[in-house]
Amino acid sequence: MAANTTNTEFSAEFFDGQTAASRAVIFKIAPDHFQVFEQTADLVIKGSYSGLELASPRQAGQPLRVKHSSLPAARILIHNSVAIADLLTLAPQLDGKVRPKRVLKTIGVIAAGFACLALFGYLLLTVAPGLVARQIPETWRDRLGEHVETSVIKSNKACSNAAGRTALNQLVRAVTGDQFDDLKLRVKVVDLPMVNAFAVPGGRIVMTGKLISKASGPDEVAGVFAHELGHVVLHHPEAAFVRIMGLQLILSLASGGTGPELIGNVASLMAVLSYSREAETQADLFAVKQLRRQGIGTKGFRAFFARIMKKDRSLLGGSLGGMGDILSTHPGTEERIEAIDPSKDGKTRSILTTKQWRDLKNICK
Ligand SMILES: [Zn+2]
Repeated sequence: MAANTTNTEFSAEFFDGQTAASRAVIFKIAPDHFQVFEQTADLVIKGSYSGLELASPRQAGQPLRVKHSSLPAARILIHNSVAIADLLTLAPQLDGKVRPKRVLKTIGVIAAGFACLALFGYLLLTVAPGLVARQIPETWRDRLGEHVETSVIKSNKACSNAAGRTALNQLVRAVTGDQFDDLKLRVKVVDLPMVNAFAVPGGRIVMTGKLISKASGPDEVAGVFAHELGHVVLHHPEAAFVRIMGLQLILSLASGGTGPELIGNVASLMAVLSYSREAETQADLFAVKQLRRQGIGTKGFRAFFARIMKKDRSLLGGSLGGMGDILSTHPGTEERIEAIDPSKDGKTRSILTTKQWRDLKNICK
């Protein structure tokens, strides 16, 4: 054992973690680092005190057993009590005592961080989307809607049979009346092989050809359309988009990333197109009110909904299985159907002639 004014050396034992053999080494304590040497003066480890950890719990009267982050498998055993005392001063984490104050402080800092993030996240995901959605400039909404629509529809063709389009416009007009002209609605039927309808940003509403062909009367299509119109009027597609962007922002903040990335994948698009149960209920309420205002019976809306959700669920799959709105599978379908009460309808009228209905049925032909 030798010592000088700045460095202190002690004998110690070294286990390399590969073999069980113990090697006698010199443990040298310098003010800002330690070194472990073989008796031959070959350096085994040089490291910082902060990288030292207890390899097993400290026990009074037993050697101190430590490891270092630079050689995680290796163990150093220090027997000398002076060396142990010196080391505990330079590497206080080795004393193995829990310091309640420090722990509480750490927990406090972490908890405060999480609370801020949670509050920020809560506001970003609940209050902000609705507010922000209303502020999105029309040109952005338009471009966003076009992007989402193209990504979802892909190469599937928009049904453009002229007589069918005329009948569709008639149906849309019957539901909207002369309201909502400011929304610049664009309603499309797309030749997709599943029953679905959805609203995308910018006043775009898409219904599938399969939905039209499965409907047994114009009032059923009108009901679905009125529900989607509800989402448009209530800015749900834009709010969903803002929520996803907010979620991405939160996730990237939480994971230490650089910032949100623009939604590019289908999974995110699907999330954009599905809404909370509350939003669905709001859209249903809107639909019922609007249909009644326009003298359209709600029986068709209810019947279509009940039939598709309860009996014809197999129709809801398809290449975009799980996507979209009217088929969204979140709980509460039963309550939503029950909430539509046709007995409360006032005077109703028929919105398409037999010929117009046939034309609409043929829109994808
Ligand atoms: Zn919906």
